[in-house]
Amino acid sequence: MTNDFIFDLQEVSCAHQGTTVLGPLSLQIRAGSRVAILGANGSGKTTLLRLLDALHYPHSGVASAFGQRIDEASFADDEVNFAFRRRVGLVFQNPDVQLFNPTVFDELAFGPLQLGWPRERILAAVEDSLARLRITHLRQRAPHRLSGGEKKRVALASVLIMEPEVLLLDEPTAALDPESQGEILRFLTEGQGSGRTIVTSTHDLHLVEGIAEHVIVLGAGKLVAQGTPAEILGNEALLRATHLIHSHWHRHADGEVHEHDHLHAHSHVHAAPSITLATSATPYRPLQRSRP
Ligand code: ADP
Repeated sequence: MTNDFIFDLQEVSCAHQGTTVLGPLSLQIRAGSRVAILGANGSGKTTLLRLLDALHYPHSGVASAFGQRIDEASFADDEVNFAFRRRVGLVFQNPDVQLFNPTVFDELAFGPLQLGWPRERILAAVEDSLARLRITHLRQRAPHRLSGGEKKRVALASVLIMEPEVLLLDEPTAALDPESQGEILRFLTEGQGSGRTIVTSTHDLHLVEGIAEHVIVLGAGKLVAQGTPAEILGNEALLRATHLIHSHWHRHADGEVHEHDHLHAHSHVHAAPSITLATSATPYRPLQRSRP
């Protein structure tokens, strides 16, 4: 394994209750890279992220992170487990799974307290994280009473406060309104993302160019393709075969990608771009439906 690969998976498969749901697949993730795991529902994205977070162990094959095997024997050692958890943070798709403290403040302070940070450092880090994610006003609120978008931001803050080298995000914008989606994405792509390895699972093609420079496509638990966002998003046959697009989707030569209502005319010209894939030069804009 080359040292600049944080994750190295060789012919790894994962099973749930005796049924293989992921793999066998081989892939490597480079330190500092931003990777999107693209796949339809049930394709194995969450299982792969949980494997990368050492919440699942391979059923067969060899998985390693930072040169350390991800398997039951290695993680039975508290020191290995603890060191890994300081370096890797997973934000779950459903924030309700992640949030369990009585207040937002406690939620953010929980991890640092576990790590034994001094009180002053914890207080400063909590205030900083609250401000960065614009949730300072929620400090004393009960997490389970917040809106979906607020919960996502609290869950993200509770992971980021630990300053993990690797951030694993499971469908970070799922079930969010467009404004919250945009805010979370801007947050991830501006500043906070720099230097960090970020692996994001999604089935939303509009996110891909904004969050990744490398894309892994899963289909029925198998690694179907990988490449740059332009290569993957330009491969309509692949996207169709993996159920990532449907018959009303298309991409224009200028990179514009969008969906149409059923009665959309086949031949058309867009007066103004309705949806533009985010790139480093174009800010993320949520999906809107264009009219025929
Ligand atoms: P995705 O995140 O792409 O939607 P998942 O990794 O959640 O996909 O699921 C992959 C497959 O594994 C699906 O067929 C799903 O039904 C199955 N699966 C996921 N979790 C479990 C579980 N705890 N027990 C049994 N099957 C599961």
